[in-house]
Amino acid sequence: MKDLIQINHLSTHFHTENGTVKAVNDVSFRVREGETVCIVGESGCGKSVTAMSIMGLVEEPGGKVVDGQIHFEGRDLLKLSKNELRSLRGNEISMIFQEPMSSLNPVLKIGQQIMEPLLVHQKLSKKEARKRAIELIEKVGISRAEQIADSYPHELSGGMLQRIMIAIAISGNPKLLIADEPTTALDVTIQAQILDILRQFKEQNNMSIMLITHDLGVVAEMADYVIVMYAGKIVEEGEVVQLFQSPKHPYTQGLLKSKPIINQRTDELYSIPGQVPNPLELTESCYFHDRCQHCMDICRTKQPVLKEVGEQQKAACWLYEEALVHA
Ligand code: SF4
Repeated sequence: MKDLIQINHLSTHFHTENGTVKAVNDVSFRVREGETVCIVGESGCGKSVTAMSIMGLVEEPGGKVVDGQIHFEGRDLLKLSKNELRSLRGNEISMIFQEPMSSLNPVLKIGQQIMEPLLVHQKLSKKEARKRAIELIEKVGISRAEQIADSYPHELSGGMLQRIMIAIAISGNPKLLIADEPTTALDVTIQAQILDILRQFKEQNNMSIMLITHDLGVVAEMADYVIVMYAGKIVEEGEVVQLFQSPKHPYTQGLLKSKPIINQRTDELYSIPGQVPNPLELTESCYFHDRCQHCMDICRTKQPVLKEVGEQQKAACWLYEEALVHA
């Protein structure tokens, strides 16, 4: 599979009154054509900021991409002008957000909102755009498409609105779809339907998906490749089967342990002790050290780097450093 997007040493910082928050800190990964890469981790680990940085949605004075490159089919997105980036967004790369209600305009009818990118990016006539909007509503599995096109967002359920967001996102046949927690606010049946729709489009159009989620059930169902982020850094990555069968980083192990298992009754679900560190107080240590049961002296003073720990699997953890293993 050919690389579609390569993110190299991306760092995105936010400047606050209390100091600089390194929300994304030297992150590198790629998404290949037709591949689904899931980015997982707790809230505040930098998943969404990574996606926003790719989309060019981190803007000064609040935040800034301070380092790195984002190569998309030979172009560095960080070097594109605002106009070039705008034409790329919605055409070649598009994004679905977690809360459809806050992404859609409450005073515009659904049909108009689907038509807008078709009129702007694809230069369709109003009549053609309306026809295509109806087709897209049908494509995401909603019946009575004409009637829905003439409805306002508040008249639809959360599941229907998320389908509409997908319809808008795929209207330009994007090569890369970034979905940020697209099913978090939905019940499990609707969640399964939404994931099905995404899978269908991926297969029909050889589309790549970058899926951000904290739900390991979604990861197991959708991912080809998994990236685990913690405190703005990648701490483990690998092929989905490998990573689920043999997680190497203690944080990934904790995440998998905290996932409920059907038919296994327990009094209490496991949760990783402690909390993600305050991003303003990060030191030159393993950021997971005060939550890790394997913490060693070196973990408190030196940061481990991401290294091969198996076939198609990397982890940033001192437990796997050669010198320590053979000491
Ligand atoms: Fe735990 Fe040390 Fe590995 Fe960090 S580097 S995850 S503290 S063993």
